[in-house]
Amino acid sequence: MVETNQYGFKIDTAKPIKGICCILYCKNKPANGKKYCHKHRKQIEAIRNPIQYSYSNLKQNAKRRGKIFTITIDEFESFVNESGYLEKKGRNKGKFHIDRINPNRGYEIDNIRILECSENVRRRFVPYFQDQVPDDFNPEDLPEVEYFSPEIENNSEDDFPF
Ligand SMILES: [Zn+2]
Repeated sequence: MVETNQYGFKIDTAKPIKGICCILYCKNKPANGKKYCHKHRKQIEAIRNPIQYSYSNLKQNAKRRGKIFTITIDEFESFVNESGYLEKKGRNKGKFHIDRINPNRGYEIDNIRILECSENVRRRFVPYFQDQVPDDFNPEDLPEVEYFSPEIENNSEDDFPF
């Protein structure tokens, strides 16, 4: 039997609880002791708590790229509410990014802003990903447009992510 859960996902109630994710057609293994696989848990988390989800993503990406990150969840929540970030992002998938004002500084609450990623900038990314799009490609993982910004000096080779 197919039911829709509170987050709008279709659930196959006939699937055994153990061994397979409950989402209709999903064949992934559930996360340890959970009903859903990692992918669907993330998707549900993004709907359930979008601010926490965006915060975790931003923090993880900053960490992965070796950037300082001092923003607290409370600071981030205020920033998101005042800037309307989630609404903008929701309407224009992949178009709005959180950008550092001064790229020599880290992700600090007085150093972030929302940046609209223009089509021109977007096109410049395309050749790097043609024929080599990884399976787990996530537009949020794209490098920030600051790397291509003409007003930014000292773009070092080391900073270039490709
Ligand atoms: Zn799943």
